[in-house]
Amino acid sequence: MRLLQFLSGETAIPAEWRQDFIREVTFRNYARSKVLVWFTFILAAGVCASVIYITKRLPLLELSLPCFLLWLQVVLVVSSSVFLYLSSVEDAFTAPELQARHEKLWYSYGIALLFYTNVMFLLNWIQTGFVTAYIVGIFIFAVFFYYPNRSSFLLFTLNALFYFLCITFIPSQASITKPIYLTNAWLSGIVVTGAAWLFNRLLLDTQLRDFRNRKKIEQQAIELRNANEKLQRLAMIDGLTQVSNRRLFDEKLEQEWRRLARSESPLSVILCDVDFFKKYNDTYGHLAGDACLKEVAKAIQLSAKRPADVVARYGGEEFAVILPDTGAAGALRVAENILQQVSSLKIPHRTSGVADHVTVSIGVATTIPNSQMQPSQLVQKADESLYRAKQSGRNRVVHQSLTLVP
Ligand code: GH3
Ligand code: MG
Ligand code: MG
Repeated sequence: MRLLQFLSGETAIPAEWRQDFIREVTFRNYARSKVLVWFTFILAAGVCASVIYITKRLPLLELSLPCFLLWLQVVLVVSSSVFLYLSSVEDAFTAPELQARHEKLWYSYGIALLFYTNVMFLLNWIQTGFVTAYIVGIFIFAVFFYYPNRSSFLLFTLNALFYFLCITFIPSQASITKPIYLTNAWLSGIVVTGAAWLFNRLLLDTQLRDFRNRKKIEQQAIELRNANEKLQRLAMIDGLTQVSNRRLFDEKLEQEWRRLARSESPLSVILCDVDFFKKYNDTYGHLAGDACLKEVAKAIQLSAKRPADVVARYGGEEFAVILPDTGAAGALRVAENILQQVSSLKIPHRTSGVADHVTVSIGVATTIPNSQMQPSQLVQKADESLYRAKQSGRNRVVHQSLTLVP
């Protein structure tokens, strides 16, 4: 069984790619069959036409060898027409169905080809003692059809078996020199069958190597893309707090500015600064300061709920939030919520001048963007608001609208 698998090329295909590879080979075999069938059709139709032209009729009803050969041509014309008709209907089907149907079509064509080869070979052998038809037929089969399947190998074997049985037991008319012919036929049969099979295997291996390389490249491309995406994500995320970084904030703000300028919708920006954070660090240490920033970032993220909202670390202990499609009232609500969320963390801060826990001051600015203004003007306005919040006692929200003056 193992040997059979090896000989038919089955073991060489990794299991995870098997289906893909078979699909690819099937499509190729099918495409090749179509070319071959057209060739057969034209050739056989040509023979029939020239016989009709010469004899003015199709001499199909005589019991003679030429008549038999002519019948073969007629069968070829009919069967290749059927194949061509089926394949033209075939092309109208959708992809998943195609594979199984293509497989049937080219497979039956391959078997028909072998059958035709054998008939031709037998006639050839009986009449002349030559085995040219077998040689030509088996090579055409080897070149045109490679399929990683046992049945393909079996076809080769059965064909060879038929050949050897014929030359051994069916006498040729060239019987005077029979021993020489027979030896010759035996030898060439062995060489040709072996060579054809080897050729077939080599072609299959080449395809497989090519397929494997392509798959490897595809896989590497996917890995590279994933790594790139990860890198890009990392480049956009603040390492400590895991919210977006300043770069992404600037990019998103620019994007939203342009988008909302087109739709003339409001855009709000929130700037959020931890109160007395220097003192927090001095009191509890930098590590505790870092942990505190993480918590604050989470609290802010909880408050900006819409998918389009962007929470970013603006720098140091300052955070910024972009709120697209959000007017003054909405932005104020989010800001108050942030204030509330941070307060409710109840992170102790005994040296804070405003409460016994960590608090934030928030500056908000809202505008309807336009192309005459820069997004930085909105951020500046929010910064001004933040400054006012600090000045007027901290732990509060100050909001301003940016007037639409360029
Ligand atoms: P205010 O209420 O006016 O905002 O006072 P403040 O002390 O918070 O403001 P100030 O700007 O004077 O101090 C900010 C401090 O934030 C200084 C700096 O050491 C600290 N800080 C900035 N980034 C980090 C960080 O990543 N981790 C820690 N632990 N501290 C940071
Ligand atoms: Mg600050
Ligand atoms: Mg501060």
